[in-house]
Amino acid sequence: MALHPASLSPGTVGDRRRAVLAERTSTAVRHPAPARTISDAGGEERLPGEVVRREGQSPIGDAAADEAYDGLGATFALLADAFGRDSIDGRGLPLDATVHYGQDYDNAFWDGARMVFGDGDGEVFRRFTVSLSVIGHELAHGVTQFTAGLEYEGQSGALNESVSDVFGAMVEQHARGQRVDEADWLIGAGLFTDEVQGRALRSMSAPGTAYDDDMLGRDPQPAHMDLYVETDDDNGGVHINSGIPNRAFHLAATAIGGTSWEGAGRVWHRALTSGTVPVRADFAQFAGITWATSRELFGSSAREAEAVADAWRTVGVEPRHAPEKTGDRARRRETKAP
Ligand SMILES: [Zn+2]
Repeated sequence: MALHPASLSPGTVGDRRRAVLAERTSTAVRHPAPARTISDAGGEERLPGEVVRREGQSPIGDAAADEAYDGLGATFALLADAFGRDSIDGRGLPLDATVHYGQDYDNAFWDGARMVFGDGDGEVFRRFTVSLSVIGHELAHGVTQFTAGLEYEGQSGALNESVSDVFGAMVEQHARGQRVDEADWLIGAGLFTDEVQGRALRSMSAPGTAYDDDMLGRDPQPAHMDLYVETDDDNGGVHINSGIPNRAFHLAATAIGGTSWEGAGRVWHRALTSGTVPVRADFAQFAGITWATSRELFGSSAREAEAVADAWRTVGVEPRHAPEKTGDRARRRETKAP
């Protein structure tokens, strides 16, 4: 089973206050405002389904639809407030989602144009909209699609997955107003039913410890490059080896302190959207780019830059010299993912 991302959100997900604030200020300073449309597939595997809630409309009383609406709003709010980014494409892309997709459907995904949420089977998974970090994770695949375009295979695929976990965690922390030392750093907490022995799908602070269950087995994520998993499954273990860069982000974020989106998150966001990340970047290349970005943002001898380099070295990845600029030259230099 390719366990997809998620995290805990008690009750309704999202930060309606921020979303409302973003909407209100749109007349004043042209602060970006979301344009959400939620549709209901009615238990069939069809898209988009019937529209049940549009931007600005009140909650409709369907938990999945209302959680999806709030989760899209919380993701939009992080991108706008923390990074000045207008939606996932940076150009105000309307955010569309479909809920109640399929029967007992155990996943949530970004299909390249919209978010799709299953209801879960009720035995292992609850409905996927309960997790704000899952929603943030999936929408971040859209951000990656519109920016670095990391190929979904091997190390670049694991980086693609990790970037989504990084944003998923940040969306949740931002909506809750948590500092790095207050956050749980779990992806998908609250998603498992009580039958499952596990806290979440993944742990960014301690990869490999999120669950240990008779049915699901044990969380297979490595926390260090020495334990990198070579496999043909899961596009070369993209959901497994993402534990390594996930932990690097957690280490950098907690060493820098404050909030994730003002510290390490600024570095990761800028690296991802800078045009310097090759589509087949490996861990060492991405590490080098984040290190270079941290020096640009904070100064070459800043403790933040040191924290980023130390974080990568702690997970066994030596940051490689970053390419100066994107384009053919950078692309030619890319390495093959294993
Ligand atoms: Zn994913």
